[in-house]
Amino acid sequence: MSESDLPSLWTHEPHTHLEFRPGDKVADIDTSATPGFKGNKADAPTLQAERNQRFADLQEMLYANSRSGDHRSILLVLQGMDTAGKGGIVKHVVGAGNPQGIRYTSFGKPTEEELSHHYLWRIWKALPGAGEIGVFDRSHYEDVLIVRVHNLVPPEVWGARYDEINAFEKELVDGGITLIKVAMFVSLEEQKARLAERLERPDKYWKYNPGDIDERLKWPLYQEAYQAVLDKTSTDYAPWHVIPCDRKWYARLAITELLIEALKGLDLSWPPADFDVEAEKKRLAQA
Ligand code: AMP
Ligand code: MG
Repeated sequence: MSESDLPSLWTHEPHTHLEFRPGDKVADIDTSATPGFKGNKADAPTLQAERNQRFADLQEMLYANSRSGDHRSILLVLQGMDTAGKGGIVKHVVGAGNPQGIRYTSFGKPTEEELSHHYLWRIWKALPGAGEIGVFDRSHYEDVLIVRVHNLVPPEVWGARYDEINAFEKELVDGGITLIKVAMFVSLEEQKARLAERLERPDKYWKYNPGDIDERLKWPLYQEAYQAVLDKTSTDYAPWHVIPCDRKWYARLAITELLIEALKGLDLSWPPADFDVEAEKKRLAQA
């Protein structure tokens, strides 16, 4: 791994604070905390802009390497209840990258066609290609979250999916995909405030869905379902990160660092020219 360029406002690489540890309880998450960050909200805009640039540079390097045969890619999996801030991560963090190398997919209620296939069918189709950063706004984990909470399939069916997901993700990692799994948590109080804002602002109606209140009322069941996800699908090759999201600025900074760390872990450098640079300069001068 290359030398750390972590900004001094972080006490440690964020993943050391955010990685789920066996025994951690969803019920105990302090959603307003800012683990590992010494600064405050006032520090966020400048730092976010700097780190967005760092992310963008590394993303370009990843993409550049794919042009010379490097098949590796990154997949950011965003899971969280409504209003947790998934869209904000897409817009303010991933959005700093070059769209040419970003593969974004949001997973909603499956279509008729999707339902006629295995639940991983639509996931396979959305995986990032060589040099890309894939972003899943919700994911295959909905098939053990909303599906479990609403009994959309019998318990023995969703119950078998945890092992299946682990095996699937192992295959992805072995195939050169670095997975960054992020579980985003807001307090019920903060969620209420964010839903209320959506109802106050015509520019936010599009984000509101009356069903969000029904899901909110099922939070205790979701809490159990998230706990099971974290307990059963945190692996050494694809660990979960638990992100407190009451402070959007913190969640964005933290997830930006997770992306930067993952990119740096690939030990990238600019691919060398596959042509004779000096000869080309001479040719160009005469052209
Ligand atoms: P949103 O992300 O706000 O656009 O909402 C998408 C909705 O689709 C959420 O309520 C998800 O829980 C739901 N959803 C996503 N995947 C599935 C799935 N596999 N089965 C059923 N519902 C799903
Ligand atoms: Mg929604």
